[in-house]
Amino acid sequence: MAFSGDQPPPPPPPHIALLPSSGMGHLTPFTRLAATLASHGCHVTILVIHPMVSSAESHHISDLLSTFSTIHSLHLTITPLDIPGDPFYLQCEAIRRSPHLIVPLLRAASPPLSGIVIDISLASAFLPATAGIALTNYIFFTSSATMLSLYSYLPIYITNKTTSTIGDVEVPGVRLVQKASVPMALHDPEELFTVQVLENARALVQANGVLVNTFEALEPKALMALNDGVVVPGFPPVIAVGPLKQLLLKKKLVFPWLDEQPERSVLYVSFGSRTAMSVEQIRELGIGLELSGVKFLWVVKTKKVDKEEEEVELEEVLGKEMVERIKERGSMVVHGWVEQEEILKHGAVGGFVSHCGWNSVMEAAMHGVPVLAWPQHADQRVNSELVRRSGLGIWVEDWSWGGEEKVVKGEEIGERVKELMDNSVVRSSAVKVTAEAVKAVGDGGSSEKNLAEFIAKLKV
Ligand code: UDP
Ligand code: UDP
Repeated sequence: MAFSGDQPPPPPPPHIALLPSSGMGHLTPFTRLAATLASHGCHVTILVIHPMVSSAESHHISDLLSTFSTIHSLHLTITPLDIPGDPFYLQCEAIRRSPHLIVPLLRAASPPLSGIVIDISLASAFLPATAGIALTNYIFFTSSATMLSLYSYLPIYITNKTTSTIGDVEVPGVRLVQKASVPMALHDPEELFTVQVLENARALVQANGVLVNTFEALEPKALMALNDGVVVPGFPPVIAVGPLKQLLLKKKLVFPWLDEQPERSVLYVSFGSRTAMSVEQIRELGIGLELSGVKFLWVVKTKKVDKEEEEVELEEVLGKEMVERIKERGSMVVHGWVEQEEILKHGAVGGFVSHCGWNSVMEAAMHGVPVLAWPQHADQRVNSELVRRSGLGIWVEDWSWGGEEKVVKGEEIGERVKELMDNSVVRSSAVKVTAEAVKAVGDGGSSEKNLAEFIAKLKV
């Protein structure tokens, strides 16, 4: 037996680069992944592409880098596209056009990279480019595994279909996704956005694996069908590593007001980082919240991008009387950014009206907060169906969606809010979802094991 002094030194920790796309819905899971990998001893470098679209993104990146000295960054300024369109989408497109700028940075990284994790919306641009420098590449799919199954199956569905538009999609081994739940932006196969999604989806087979912020007990069917090649033959391993834990950044101001509220009495209302409802719908939502008689903490968003000061005052949107009444009756309405996960983990919060962006769903799952799903765009109906099926919450399917003109009336909203807050069945099923989520990321849990295997592969 060799003496310890003769043993070869342990392999150096893997060096992993992370390449997120734009918007908090993408940046948040990437920074959580960065912290998780760093806490497992990996050397992590995040690519930061300037200029960023929103202030929330810039603040988040600086908070990350100032909190974690072991997470490094590579900065690159690119020229924004000067064409009309959704600013987050345009930024993503500008990054997609920049492999010639980004790949040299990756090649020059020190210590040399063991692998890269690329945002799904950049897949078709960066999988061939990174393979070209023999860099092991993984994709991070920033939504649910069920959405990944729909996304990756779409090219096969489109090749096989006999009609010119998209209809209901039966995802093999997973479930039927009704046309109404297929993201509106994907209904026309000729649209640029759809063409790009299809390119990304087709490129996935080139990846060494696909990471997803979910856990096996929540989406066993989708994960199994993807990993068994039932959805797409030859699909790379799908690695469930969630729910990724909240970043514990420098102390954040929450709402001391919450500390004064009884356990599980407060409803939290938010539609994510980029969804602004119509003024008419915002007012009806206010009426509904008041009618419910429940105390609430409501985040109102009137603009998609938060860059400048919110130019409209809350009073202008809700009316002075409503804003005053809300305060007098002991509820809260805020305009702008809040620390959502700090709120969701507070014991006073007993319900969440959510658009069901995937990060919000994972945060509700982690903290056992029952959800009233009100999807607005993109993958959110697919996610809402999961929320209902898993028992994490309820979903009223016929509420407005995808930019429909329809306004949901306050009376109906109020009734559903009461139904959520008084519902002991949903409360206890949400608690069960949380128990599974906590187990998955705990010692020996499925996500923890998957993550350890992923890191071990990068070491060799
Ligand atoms: N978020 C937050 N404060 C806000 C709005 C959003 O902390 O005022 C966070 C939220 O906790 C989540 C992310 O931003 O982690 C939003 O991602 P999600 O997938 O829920 O929705 P999106 O904003 O992409 O529609
Ligand atoms: N979209 C939108 N508002 C939202 C979320 C998405 O208009 O709150 C649009 C987006 O511009 C794109 C489509 O919906 O045309 C699909 O969005 P994506 O899948 O990129 O969603 P993300 O993960 O970026 O929120």
